[in-house]
Amino acid sequence: MARLKAYSVLQTKSGLFIRKDPGLGLLVFSPYSGLIFACKESDTIPVVNWLDKKTQNPPTHEYLKSLGIDWAISTEEAKYPKEHLLPNSDRWSVPNAQKPILINWLITGNCPLECKYCYAEDLMRGKRKEPNESEICRIAKSILSYNPLVVVLTGGDPLVSLHLNLAIQLLYKKTGLILDTCGYTFADKHLKLFKKYGVFVRISLDSEIPRRNDKLRPVGQKRTNHNQKILSTTESAVSALNKCIRGHIPFAVQTVSTTLNRSDIPSLGDKLYRMGAKYWRILVVTPTGSNKEYYKQLIGDKRGQRRFWDIILKQVRSYYGNNGNRDMPVEVTPNSHPNAVILVAPDGVFCTEYKEKVLLDDKVPKKPRLSVMFDKANRQTHAERYLNLFSDKL
Ligand code: SF4
Repeated sequence: MARLKAYSVLQTKSGLFIRKDPGLGLLVFSPYSGLIFACKESDTIPVVNWLDKKTQNPPTHEYLKSLGIDWAISTEEAKYPKEHLLPNSDRWSVPNAQKPILINWLITGNCPLECKYCYAEDLMRGKRKEPNESEICRIAKSILSYNPLVVVLTGGDPLVSLHLNLAIQLLYKKTGLILDTCGYTFADKHLKLFKKYGVFVRISLDSEIPRRNDKLRPVGQKRTNHNQKILSTTESAVSALNKCIRGHIPFAVQTVSTTLNRSDIPSLGDKLYRMGAKYWRILVVTPTGSNKEYYKQLIGDKRGQRRFWDIILKQVRSYYGNNGNRDMPVEVTPNSHPNAVILVAPDGVFCTEYKEKVLLDDKVPKKPRLSVMFDKANRQTHAERYLNLFSDKL
């Protein structure tokens, strides 16, 4: 491993990615569990030596249980890796990162589905110019200049981008890689690609009941008009999950929770755990510029949002109650601060969500200055979101 410098992202011999953030500590992304952790600054050297296999022992047992999953210990031995602030969240004040921890790159605006609540609809389906090969290279360079610990390839659905391979190759080993997909066009060729480049996959599934999932995540008009065989979106997501299991690709499932599917949560959790999901991410539907009316129907006003959040937490607790074990971590993201995220649109513009998409830097939209990046994006909720601090309420 190269010398550890402030903010540079390195892959250790164990396969985990690290970034040293002075004043915060050591940030770690595991491509095996798909989770992000922060380690106390004073433990940096022993943790790095352990992750780089220079010593066999982590500083404490909490590190082994959280960072050691699937290379030092099995998922079963780890139990539920609740701590994302290591060794123990009691000893932390709220962490703040000076540089983005995670950047979402929408490499295409195309998608086979037309989910009514879609958070990205205002950047999709021709509303932003699709990138060509040289623009993909330029955007990747720009993203990497901020040293994100993780880049999420998203969209639209990145599987329908002509430049998926190129984008992955450009980022490979320079940052942790996650790919978000609805799974509708997931094929065997993708398994090879993800295996080769160590991509962690997150598949969207809102309900195991096909009728309900299809209502929330319908197949797009274009496909239904072309007499193509239309799969149920539950069927296609489950088929993608099975492909990942077969191909030994680590994966998680993402569920957008709304009033239509909240009661399905306990039974869906049971099935995902049995299928081998590495973790389950439940996101409360996000209000955006393009889904305002539908959002109101689903969640209501501010009071409705709070009530909804309480119900979701209750459902997740009941999932744990029924299941009787804590082997599969569940991340719950309330999305009450949509400007926690940093998005890169298909045309390379950096933005965040604030009632609608807003540029991070009006003067230099494709290469925002770090000094103004967090004026519009919220630095604290950005760190809380990716370090999974909301789930402490579980
Ligand atoms: S699958 Fe994702 S990107 Fe596609 S329409 Fe649905 S929410 Fe939007």
